[in-house]
Amino acid sequence: MLLTISTEHRPATDLGFLLHKHPDRFQSFDLAFGRAHVFYSEANEGRCSACLLLDIDPVGLVRGKQRRQDEVLGRYVNDRPYVASSFMSVALARVYRSAMAGHCKDREALADTPIPLRVKIDVLPVRGGGGFLLSLFEPLGYRVEAERQPLDEQFPAWGDSPYYSVTLHVTRRLSEVLSHLYVLIPVFDNLKHYYVGEDELEKLLEKGAGWLADHPQKAIITRRYLKSRSSLLRQALARLVQDEGLDEGEEPVAAAEEREAQLEKPLSLDQQRRGAVMAALRGRGARHVLDLGCGEGRLLKELLDDARFERVVGMDVSIRALEIAEKRLKLDRLPPKKAERLQLWHGSLIYRDSRLQGFDAAAVVEVIEHLEASRLSALERVLFEFARPRSVVLTTPNREYNQLWASLPAGRLRHQDHRFEWTRAEFRDWAEGVAERFGYRVGFLSVGPEHETLGSPTQMGLFELPEGG
Ligand code: SAH
Repeated sequence: MLLTISTEHRPATDLGFLLHKHPDRFQSFDLAFGRAHVFYSEANEGRCSACLLLDIDPVGLVRGKQRRQDEVLGRYVNDRPYVASSFMSVALARVYRSAMAGHCKDREALADTPIPLRVKIDVLPVRGGGGFLLSLFEPLGYRVEAERQPLDEQFPAWGDSPYYSVTLHVTRRLSEVLSHLYVLIPVFDNLKHYYVGEDELEKLLEKGAGWLADHPQKAIITRRYLKSRSSLLRQALARLVQDEGLDEGEEPVAAAEEREAQLEKPLSLDQQRRGAVMAALRGRGARHVLDLGCGEGRLLKELLDDARFERVVGMDVSIRALEIAEKRLKLDRLPPKKAERLQLWHGSLIYRDSRLQGFDAAAVVEVIEHLEASRLSALERVLFEFARPRSVVLTTPNREYNQLWASLPAGRLRHQDHRFEWTRAEFRDWAEGVAERFGYRVGFLSVGPEHETLGSPTQMGLFELPEGG
């Protein structure tokens, strides 16, 4: 699985600057599904060719996943390692991220200039045939050469395979060509799709900016690109690609594997909880939202990805957590309009803080149990008396559920930093007391798998100020 980008624009070695990859170096990147290698097959004044080779690990792809018996063979016999499927998109986005974004500090003018480029893809699976191939690239100004591979060279009578060697010629900005490839490569491979972002639609719109809207095949491109949204692996890859430092950030294989295993678990409690909090905030029509004790910013990311939340503030007492949140959210790289919606504040929930006033809603997710019980009354006043948002969505563990976790010794709390964990009755007492003292109404929801007698692992209180309250 090889994608080669060449130019004859002189000096051709400038391609190294555009791609942020030095022509003299062989570089390798660990990806969730294998490795990507970048090297130059030629680099001189007149001609320069950068190769991106994907080395997919077919066993690793299904590692840790429970499949039906009849799929077992498919684990080892599948075409993923050999063809330029959507993994190539993942790799392009990672390895050539800056180039795709059109950034090139050493050759800015060149990055903004259309240059003659040739892209060769070995081997592209094209479900839909050669005509389909042309219909996607030609409207964008590409000249397409495609050679269909026989199923088996030894047995020409078997006919052709769906695989093509494709060479594309075009004079365009490199960033445009990379964006086209990013969107279109998975579109050809209609079999399995692994996407590159949690929010595929947003990614598609971003990478398709300036060309997709006018493309005569935009309906089919969009439909195919967005297909099979439910794949767990897709989600996992999406997360991995998003979470990584990308570009130069080489993560040790073991760490990536560990992360992948984590991500491939069915929906984690953490994800379910975030989903429930997001739903509660959306349901309340909140626009200006606080995430108090935001930690490393996972909820902030989801809030930021939904434009209905016009202002999002994350606050935490831990500077370290805020630093991680900042990195995770890639604040320095967000489009300014998006970045403007978010602020990260250092602060403590047990001190009155006038900045917290004027918000529609506050999320306080898995935070109260980190406070000494004696500090809770301070938090209550800071949040419900002074900040006084219309809605508060607050979660905390349900201690009763702990006994269902075999790995948790009896009587132990879930986290060493937890000062207490409440039963459902204890939480209800506290929450109803708070609601009464500060003039809120409160309702309760359980989050996570529900046990008949022990409830669910997370309990949620939804506080609401009555109209005019
Ligand atoms: N809400 C996040 C983090 C939960 S962990 C999530 O759901 O992932 C609890 C967080 O509360 C930690 O980040 C911790 O630093 C923060 N925290 C603890 N005491 C705090 C206080 N007094 N004020 C603000 N944040 C606090």
